[in-house]
Amino acid sequence: MTRDFLADLAGVLDAPGLLLPGQDLTRYEREWRGRYESRALAVARPADVAMLSALVECCLRHGVAMVPQGGNTGLVGGAVACGERRELLISLERLRAVRKLDSDSACLTVEAGCTLGATTRVAAAQGWRLPLALASGDSATIGGVLATNAGGNETIRFGNARHMVLGLEAVLADGSIWRGLSPLRKDNAGYDLAQLLVGSEGTLGIITAASLALKPLPRQREVAWLAVPSPASALAVLRRVRQAVGETITAFEVMPALAIEFALAHRPGARCPVDPQAPWHVLLDCDCAAAGQWLGEAVLECLEAECAAENVTDVVVAQSQAQADAFWQIRESISDAQKAGGVSLKHDISVPIAAIPGFIDQTLARLRDRVPGIRPCVFGHFGDGNLHFNLTQPREMAAEAFRAREEEINELVFSSVLAVGGSIAAEHGIGLLRKGWMAKSADPAALFAMQRIKRALDPLGLMNPGKVLEVDYYSSASAGDICD
Ligand SMILES: Cc1cc2nc3c(=O)[nH]c(=O)nc-3n(C[C@H](O)[C@H](O)[C@H](O)COP(=O)(O)OP(=O)(O)OC[C@H]3O[C@@H](n4cnc5c(N)ncnc54)[C@H](O)[C@@H]3O)c2cc1C
Repeated sequence: MTRDFLADLAGVLDAPGLLLPGQDLTRYEREWRGRYESRALAVARPADVAMLSALVECCLRHGVAMVPQGGNTGLVGGAVACGERRELLISLERLRAVRKLDSDSACLTVEAGCTLGATTRVAAAQGWRLPLALASGDSATIGGVLATNAGGNETIRFGNARHMVLGLEAVLADGSIWRGLSPLRKDNAGYDLAQLLVGSEGTLGIITAASLALKPLPRQREVAWLAVPSPASALAVLRRVRQAVGETITAFEVMPALAIEFALAHRPGARCPVDPQAPWHVLLDCDCAAAGQWLGEAVLECLEAECAAENVTDVVVAQSQAQADAFWQIRESISDAQKAGGVSLKHDISVPIAAIPGFIDQTLARLRDRVPGIRPCVFGHFGDGNLHFNLTQPREMAAEAFRAREEEINELVFSSVLAVGGSIAAEHGIGLLRKGWMAKSADPAALFAMQRIKRALDPLGLMNPGKVLEVDYYSSASAGDICD
C-alpha cells in the first residue's frame, strides 16, 4: 500500500517536492524540545496551491494522514509525525511568495511558507509594520504563526496573530481550495472561516496564504528597564503607564532575578542595565506613529511617580536603538539560557492580570513546599497576562528525579491556573503536549462543539490526527455525525 501511495504521490509532485526516508529528513523530523520522535512516511514540499490540492486528494484516495509543517518551531508537538498510522509531513516552505502589498488598504498578502521575519522586513521596507514579534520569527512561518494563533511580545497592544488576519486561502480536507483572501475590514457574509482555521493547529485544513492588516511604523519610541520589588509593584507600574499612555505600550515584560542570572551567563559581555540581583525586572517598550517628543516625557513622568511610590527602585531608559536592542537581547535569551540550569518544566499559561501577583506568590509557595529547592523562572508577557511559568530543577536533585515529578507539578500549576480563571495554553497551543489537559479542563459544551466541527470538516480524520482533540470517528454517534 505504501509503495502504491508513494508512486501516486510522485505523480502529483515535482522532483524537489518529494523527500523519502533514506534522504536526510532531520530538519523536518527534529522536534524543538526533543520530546517526540517524528518518523514520517515521506516529506512532501508542494510548489504551489494546485499541487498541494492534488496532494491532499492523493492522501484521501489512500487514506494517508497529513501533518502540515511550517518552520517546525512549535513547542507543543503539533508538527510531528508520530501517530499510530504512518503520516505524511507536508512542508509549506516552497510557498513563500509575497503576493501583494496594498498600501491604500494597509494589507499585505503573503504565502504561508514565508517566514514571519521576512514578511515583517518586506512590510517595513515599504513603511509598514506587521506587529507580531516572536524570538523564533526568522524560522516560524506565516502559516505556522496563524495555525497556532501565536502571541509574542506585542500582544498587549495589537492582539495575537488572529487580530491581523483579514482573509485566508487554504486547502481544505477534501482537497478543495478555499479562496478567501481579502483586504476587507468589514465582511459579515456568513461564518468566519478564516478565524476558525486560525489556531486550529493544522487539524481543519492547510493555510496557503493570508491577507494581513498592517499598521504604520513608529516615529517615537521609549524603552526602559526597571527594577521592581515584586509582581504587585509591576502591576502598579502597568496600571499607571496604561492610564497615561495606554495606546502606546507595545510590551510590558517581567523577569525574575534568576532569569537575568541565566541570561547573563548565556551571553558573555551582556550587562543588565540595573542591579541584576533586583528581585524582579520590567522591560517596558512604548511607541507611537505620530511624530513629536511627548511620549518620552509622559513615560518618564509615570516612572518618577512610581519611584516615589517605591514600586520602582531603579530605572534606565535606553538612549539609542542599539541600547534598546541590547535590553531586548537579554529578554529574548532567557528560554535558551535556562537550559544551562538543568531540566526545566515549562508552562505557557494565562491568568487575569489582576490575579497575577497573588497567583505567583501562592503557587510558588505551594511548589516550594512540595519540591524544596525548586528554582522558579517565571517570566514573560505580564502585560497581556501570559506567563512562562518555568520551573528549573533544584540544584541538589538529579534530573531524572525532577522529571519524574512532572505530572504532580503540572497538576499543581494547572489547577492553580484554572482556580483563578486562567488558561493552560496561552500562546503555544495544545498540540500533543497539552491534549490531556485540554480534555480535562475545557468547557464540556465547547469540547463537544469542537469535536463536531472537526468531524464535519475532516470526516476521514486525516488532517493532523491526534493533535489538540481526541475525536472518536468510529463510535456509532460519530458515524451518524459523518452521515449528517
Ligand atoms: C525560541 C522560540 C521562541 C518562541 N516564542 C514564541 C512567542 O513569543 N510566542 C508564540 O506564540 N510562540 C512562540 N514560539 C513557538 C513557535 O515559534 C510558534 O508557535 C510559531 O507560530 C510556530 O510557527 P512554525 O511555522 O514554526 O510552525 P510549526 O512548528 O511548523 O507548526 C506549528 C503548528 O501549526 C501547524 N501548521 C504549520 N503550518 C501550517 C499551515 N500552513 N497550515 C495549517 N497548519 C499549519 C502544524 O501542523 C503545527 O500544528 C517560540 C518558539 C521558539 C523555538
